[in-house]
Formats: sequence, C-alpha cells, structure tokens
Amino acid sequence: MKTLISSDVRLLANLIQEGKVVVFPTETVYGIGASTRLESACLRVYEIKGRPKDNPLIAHFHSIESIAAVCELGEVGRALLERFSPGPLTLILPKKDKSLFPKELDTLAVRIPKNPVVREWIELSRGPVSAPSANLSGRPSLTKLSDVLRYFDGVVDGILVAEEPSFGIESTVVSLVGKSPALLRPGSIESNELLKILPKLWIPGPGSQKETGSVPLSPGTKYKHYAPTARVILASKEEFEFSLKTMNESKSTAWIGFSFEEIELNEGKKFGDLHPIFKSDRFCFVSSNEDYAAKLYAFFESCDFAGFDTIFCEVPKPGKGEEGLRNRLEKAISI
Ligand code: AMP
Ligand code: MG
Repeated sequence: MKTLISSDVRLLANLIQEGKVVVFPTETVYGIGASTRLESACLRVYEIKGRPKDNPLIAHFHSIESIAAVCELGEVGRALLERFSPGPLTLILPKKDKSLFPKELDTLAVRIPKNPVVREWIELSRGPVSAPSANLSGRPSLTKLSDVLRYFDGVVDGILVAEEPSFGIESTVVSLVGKSPALLRPGSIESNELLKILPKLWIPGPGSQKETGSVPLSPGTKYKHYAPTARVILASKEEFEFSLKTMNESKSTAWIGFSFEEIELNEGKKFGDLHPIFKSDRFCFVSSNEDYAAKLYAFFESCDFAGFDTIFCEVPKPGKGEEGLRNRLEKAISI
C-alpha cells in the first residue's frame, strides 16, 4: 500500500472522511486513527495493531463543544476539560450519540490533543478521530517519526507529519461514569492536580483493584502494555550506579537514568572519562522525570532495534512527574 506521508492537514482529513487509517502525532505519543463515525475504519485499526477487540479506543476531538455535542459532559467534566484541555487528559463519559464507535459501549473515552495543527486536522476530518497509540499491541508506544515510518509506512493510508510528541507517555485516563470518579491510568496530569477539582477521585493503590469491584476499571488495564522485548530492571540509584561501575562491555545491556555524571571511579575519574562509549546508544541520560518520560519509549525502541537484552532503568525522582513514569516503568517490568 502507498502511504501518504504529508503535513497537509486537508489531504489527511480527506483520508479520514473516506474511511481510511492515518497515523498522527499528539503531545503524548503517536496515535493510529480512523473516523469514530465509521465502524469498519475503526475495526481496521484493531487489525493493523493486533489489538484485542474489547479494548476500546480514545476519541480525539478539536474542542470542548464538540465533545458536549455527543457526550454527557456535566459540570465536573467541563471543569476538568477547561482546566486541562487541550492536553493529555482523557475522560470516560456517558455517550449521547450511540452511533459512535464502539457502538456496544454506552461510554466514550474523549480527549483534546494539544497541538493546534492536529486539532485543525481533526476538525477538517469532521471528527472525532478514534485512536489508540500507534504501535503493535503490547509494545511500547512510539514517539519518533523515524520509528513510526519503520512500522507503518506501507501499512496505513496516511501519516500526518507534525510536531513530535513531547510528553512521551500516554494520557491520564479518568472515568466520570459509575459510582465515583476513578483514575484509570496515571499520566502527566497527576492525581494531586485532579483532586483539586475531583476531591472524591478514587486512585488505585497496590492491590486495590481487587477490593473495589464497584469501580469501573478501564478495559485497557486487563492487558499487558508498554514492554520492550529486552528485560527491564527498575534499579535504585545505588543499584544503577553499581551496575554501571561493574558493567561488562561485551554484554548487551543498556541504561537510562539520572546518575551517570555523578559516578566517580577511582582517583576522581568520572565514568564518562573511562568509557569512550559513554555517549553511545547504550546510555540515555535524563535530567528530570519529565525528560525521562519524554525519552523512555524511544529508548526502549532503540534498545530493541539494537538487540540489547537488558535495560537498567533508574527509579524516578520523588515528586513531579513521578506518578505516570513509575506506572509505565512498572508495566515494563511486569512481563
Ligand atoms: P491506548 O490504547 O494506549 O490508546 O489507551 C486507550 C485507553 O483508554 C485504554 O486503556 C482503554 O481501555 C481506555 N478506554 C477507551 N475507551 C474506554 C471506555 N469507554 N471506558 C473505559 N476505558 C476506555
Ligand atoms: Mg497503547
């Protein structure tokens, strides 16, 4: 198949209207989308990804009013969107327009991406555009056009070329249906910010899913996500530094974390001085949790591409940006 790779939003919007499948960047990760109004087009997204049929897609909108036209938004939903949209927040809402995909659910996951070019494309597509992350099911999401091209050129009808993702991990998902609002997936918009608008937000803790049968859980939580082929080890700062100090250059191991610079070997020599391969693609230095999240999936992807068998990931720093990042790292080690 010939894939139209272009930054022309009009051409790519035409494809969506014709029932075609288009890969596009958002501020979180790349998405693979089709018109929410065309079931057969949405089903092709599942086929291409190898995605289980009971894992629904997020519908991407260009404005709050376009969401209110097809869903029960309510006061709280509107307040959340006004505070956090456009941005990486997905809300699960009751559906008003029952014809939207997936027809068998009476709820819809909705979100407004940050990039104005993408919103213009959605509007021209006579959206919404239903999309999961653009990756093969179970693999980490993609955040680089070069990786998207490797997987999807020749497979989808179009690829929208626009600003690359900057947040790097998938949106925060909050359910506003059921007995109480619930955080279904942590992300860059953190629970402490959400609690200011949703003081009764249910936030899953370790093991809490089993105890709270009444809380609507995202079907997505059923599936393993975000894991590279390489074995991922979540390492404390000490373990991370120790593994670097004792590294065996013949082994195919890679590292992502904060603590490269600080590693002092004997006589004040720095790690970087002793290993000329310091800047090689085995090492990914991050300066903050946000920077870590932005680089994580692309690093996983490049490690798998290079055939590394182990990736040491340093634990996130406590505080801002920790919640979503820790969740993705824990998912990556849980396979
Ligand atoms: P992704 O597949 O990475 O794009 O993530 C989409 C997430 O949104 C998955 O966790 C889905 O299960 C979740 N989701 C989409 N629609 C719904 C819905 N109607 N109710 C609950 N979760 C949903
Ligand atoms: Mg995904």
